[in-house]
Amino acid sequence: MDGTADVVVIGFGAAGACAALEAAAAGASVVVLDRFAGGGATALSGGVVYAGGGTGQQVEAGITDTPEAMFSYLKHEVRDAVSEATLRRFCEDSPKMLAWLEDQGVPFDASLCPFKTSYPTDDYYLYQSGSEDAVFDHSGPSPAPRGHRTKAKGTSGRVFFARLAEATRRAGARIMTQTRAEELITTDGRVTGVRCRTLTGLPRTLHGVLSKAGAKPWIYYPPLGKKLFALAEWLERRFARPITVTARRGVVISAGGFIADRESVRQLGPEYRGGLALGTPGDDGTGIRLGVAAGGKTARMDKISVWRFITPPSALQRGVLVDSAGRRFGDPTRYGAAIGSEIIQRDGKAWLLIDDDILRVARAQVTTQAAPFQRWQVRYLLNRGMVTAPTIEEVAAKAGIGTPQNDSTQPFGTPPYSLINVSVRAGFGYPCPMLTLGGLVVDEETGQVQGVPGLYAAGRSAVGVCSESYVSGLSLADCVFSGRRAGQHVAKEARC
Ligand SMILES: Cc1cc2nc3c(=O)[nH]c(=O)nc-3n(C[C@H](O)[C@H](O)[C@H](O)COP(=O)(O)OP(=O)(O)OC[C@H]3O[C@@H](n4cnc5c(N)ncnc54)[C@H](O)[C@@H]3O)c2cc1C
Repeated sequence: MDGTADVVVIGFGAAGACAALEAAAAGASVVVLDRFAGGGATALSGGVVYAGGGTGQQVEAGITDTPEAMFSYLKHEVRDAVSEATLRRFCEDSPKMLAWLEDQGVPFDASLCPFKTSYPTDDYYLYQSGSEDAVFDHSGPSPAPRGHRTKAKGTSGRVFFARLAEATRRAGARIMTQTRAEELITTDGRVTGVRCRTLTGLPRTLHGVLSKAGAKPWIYYPPLGKKLFALAEWLERRFARPITVTARRGVVISAGGFIADRESVRQLGPEYRGGLALGTPGDDGTGIRLGVAAGGKTARMDKISVWRFITPPSALQRGVLVDSAGRRFGDPTRYGAAIGSEIIQRDGKAWLLIDDDILRVARAQVTTQAAPFQRWQVRYLLNRGMVTAPTIEEVAAKAGIGTPQNDSTQPFGTPPYSLINVSVRAGFGYPCPMLTLGGLVVDEETGQVQGVPGLYAAGRSAVGVCSESYVSGLSLADCVFSGRRAGQHVAKEARC
C-alpha cells in the first residue's frame, strides 16, 4: 500500500485540509496522512475564525471595518510574531479568505452578538472575539466585531472541519487515516517522502472506535480519555505496518502543536500544571520534531496561550483582578488569553473582586448569555468559586489573600463584596484551557520550513500570526492562511 503523490500532507486538521485544497487546485496529486480519523483540534474547536476588513457578514450586519483598522488592532496582539508585511497581507486578504471558506461549504452568518462573551449562544455568529475595546480609546468609532463563528449549534468546529474535509475529498485528495508519519525521507538534501505506519483490518476498526470515543474525554475528563488513547496507541505499536509515501514535489507538516507533550509543557514552569490540554493526543509535537530532524528550526516554543474566561456573564468584566497579595492587576475586559497570561506571571493565582451590584446584574444575565456548555463555568463563578462578606477585609480573609486597597479610579462599590478564585488551578468545573503557539520557523512568503528544501509547515506546527498571543479565532484564521500558502507553494515545486 506504499504510495506516491506530488504533495504529501501530514495531519488532516484545518491547516492540512487547506494545504491539500490549494495544492489540488493547482493541479497536484495529493495524499493526506492522519494518525487518527482526521479533524484534530479543529473538529473539537469552537469554529471561530478571526476575520475582518469588510467581510460579507460584517457588511450585512452594518459593521464598518477596514484592513487598516484590523491591522492596527492585530499588531497589538501579534507584535513581532510575523513581519508587518505578512500581517498586512493577512488583514488585506481576510474578506477573501472568509469568502473562500464559504466556497468550500463552511457556513457563516451575520447575526451580531449584542454582549461581550467568550463564546456566543446559538443565536449569534458574529461577535467581538478579541480585546479590541480594551486596546482602543473610545473617542473614535466602536471597534468592529471580527469573531466569525461557523454557523452550527453547540461548538461549531465540527461543522467547520466536516465541510473542509468534504471539499478536500471532492478535490480529489487521497486521505489515508490511521496512518502515522514517523520519519521524513531526504534525498540530496531535499525532503522527498514520509515513512509511516498504518493500520488495517480489525485493529484499524478498534483504533477508530477508541480514538473517536476518547477525543472529548481526553480534554474534559483526562482519566478516561488517556485510558482510551493508551489502548489506541497499543494497537498502533502492535499492529501498524510500515509504509512509505513518496512526495514528488514536497511535504507539508500540519500535525498540530505540542500541548499533549506534558513533559515539554511542564519544563516551561509549574504554573502551567493543572491546565486543560486543548487539543488531541496528536498534539504531541511529532510534526515539529520531524521538521527539526530534517534541519528545521523552531521559535516561540515557550508561548502557551492560557485561557481564563470570566465572561459570560458580561457584568463580571466590571470587577477588579487581584493577586494573592491583594494587589490589583490586568484588565478584566480583555480576552481570556490576555488575562490568563497575566495570571501565569503571578504564579497562576488570581481572584476577581466584585460588589453586590455586579453580582446582581451578573446573575440576571445568566439565562440570556450562557451557552449550555458554559453553564458549569457560570455555576462555578457565581456559586462554588466565590466567597462573600460585608467588608473588603473580611472577604479577603475568607479567600485567604491580602486585603485589596481602594482606588479612586475604580472604587469597590456597594457591599457585600465577593471574591471569585480565578487561578489556573481554581477548581472542578472551571478549567483553564491551554494551547501551544510556537513551532517550525517558515519563510513567510511561501510557508517553506526555513533551510529545508521540499518541506513546508502550517497551522500549530509552524510559527504564525497567533504565535505571540491568541484571541478567539486567530488560530483557525492562521491555519487557513498558512495552510493555503503552503499548499499553493509546494504545488509549484519542480517534480523530482
Ligand atoms: C475545545 C477547543 C476550542 C477551540 N476553539 C477555537 C476557536 O474557536 N477558534 C480558533 O481559532 N481556535 C480554536 N481552538 C484552537 C484550534 O482549534 C487549533 O489551534 C487548530 O485547530 C489547530 O489546527 P491544526 O490544523 O494546526 O491542527 P489539528 O486540527 O490538531 O490537526 C492536526 C492533525 O494532525 C494529526 N497528526 C498529528 N501527528 C501526526 C503524525 N505523526 N502523523 C499523521 N498525522 C498526525 C492529528 O491527528 C490531527 O488530526 C480551539 C481548540 C480546542 C481544542
